[in-house]
Amino acid sequence: MIENKQQKVVTRFAPSPTGFLHIGGIRTALYAWAYAKKNNGTFILRIEDTDKAREVGGSIDHIIESLKWIGIDWSEGPDISGPNAPYKQSERLASYQKYAKILVEKGLAYADPYTEEEVESFRKKAEEEKRPFLYRDHRPENPPVWDGTKPLRFKITDVKSYEWVDEVRGKLKAGPEALDDFILIKSDGYPTYNFAHIIDDLEMGVTHIMRADEFISSTPKFLALYEALELERPSFVTLPPIMGADGKKKLGKRDGAKDFLEYRNEGYLPDAMINFLAFIGWNPGGEKEILTKEEFINLFDIKQIHISGGGFNEEKLDWINKEHIKRLPEEELEKNIFAWLPQELHIKKLIPLIVERISKFSDIKTMVDSGELDFFYKEPAYEASKLIYKDVSSQKIKSNLEEALDSLQMTEEEDFTFEKIKALLMDIANHMDSRGEVLHPIRFALSGLDKSPDPFILADILGKKETITRINKAISILSL
Ligand code: GLU
Repeated sequence: MIENKQQKVVTRFAPSPTGFLHIGGIRTALYAWAYAKKNNGTFILRIEDTDKAREVGGSIDHIIESLKWIGIDWSEGPDISGPNAPYKQSERLASYQKYAKILVEKGLAYADPYTEEEVESFRKKAEEEKRPFLYRDHRPENPPVWDGTKPLRFKITDVKSYEWVDEVRGKLKAGPEALDDFILIKSDGYPTYNFAHIIDDLEMGVTHIMRADEFISSTPKFLALYEALELERPSFVTLPPIMGADGKKKLGKRDGAKDFLEYRNEGYLPDAMINFLAFIGWNPGGEKEILTKEEFINLFDIKQIHISGGGFNEEKLDWINKEHIKRLPEEELEKNIFAWLPQELHIKKLIPLIVERISKFSDIKTMVDSGELDFFYKEPAYEASKLIYKDVSSQKIKSNLEEALDSLQMTEEEDFTFEKIKALLMDIANHMDSRGEVLHPIRFALSGLDKSPDPFILADILGKKETITRINKAISILSL
């Protein structure tokens, strides 16, 4: 028995470099990483690049960049090496050869002598006869010596039912239908996923395999291999699929399965992404919905991973992101917001107003582009009629503005704060038939916008001098 000597938790994320990572892949990495962290274990990044036809250039860098952005780190991986290097399957062919030879020697693997056309004709015949195609029905009596130019197949000696325990789904059972003489090493010399991951997990001491549910149906094959090589089974942890917003079908490209780095480009916070992804498929119970990265790691437990798929809800993501934005330390918040603002709007006082109105940082660009923030550095231009509130006369609006102006003018520069402005203006507004009679024209005079923040924030941001200038201008427009 070759045993896993390590007792400590070892998990891995094993993406294939076939394109960008989407949230499904990141969520798998996140859970595997969190579980290792929580248990002071090891988290490994392994690249499964044995399907050269499907490989997409640049994917490995892209995967690494995505993981780094969200804050997932690994202690062994292709970029940093480690005690079990190399971490790309294409560089581990010697290991697969070693275990393939063990299987050949045991009489449990053999060279596949057929051409592709021959295998295809067996398949066709089975189809015509309406029976499932099984390679093992055609197993050659005297296979040629395996010289690496032919596929190497695993010989299923016992077509039986397998039982195993999935840490999430409990007892599972599958068998004969999944068991055929599958390929271990292809004619191009590269191993199949079925074989390679088992050897890698063994050599890297992986204790918990966290992966998507599409691998359940192949598990009897894996179990047959563990048996043949006399290996201890690792723990299987099947993660629930991520469903689209309707909760019915798996998330597809159209409803959100985009390149994960797009979330960075749209100005989501990495910790908010962790928080959001954590809850798609897991819940620690309780009411708390906003978690820091550390809180998530501390709470994370396989026992609370769900069996059925969790829905991907972009509104929820926006809400979580907003909550994380609000909780950012002042300096970081400022840095993030200023990164999206033109230089002339790098004004600290704008920050609360912006935070109030965004759920992700790219919303700032929308605000800027729509002219919502122009009021700050451009004196508004508008028609007198815009200052009028409902059917209040222009005379009355003018005198209201004059009253507000007097009161604001008497305030010392250093007292010109949000609270003070609000107290003064509300005092006047409360004596009117309707508060809008004074608050609307002031708001408009200061912003020139049909929709804008309240006049107190505007006046506070603009400062005493500019506020007075703009109210004076409104009065003069009304006097024309
Ligand atoms: N290389 C596999 C994939 O990208 C990973 C499966 C696993 O984690 O074992 O789907």
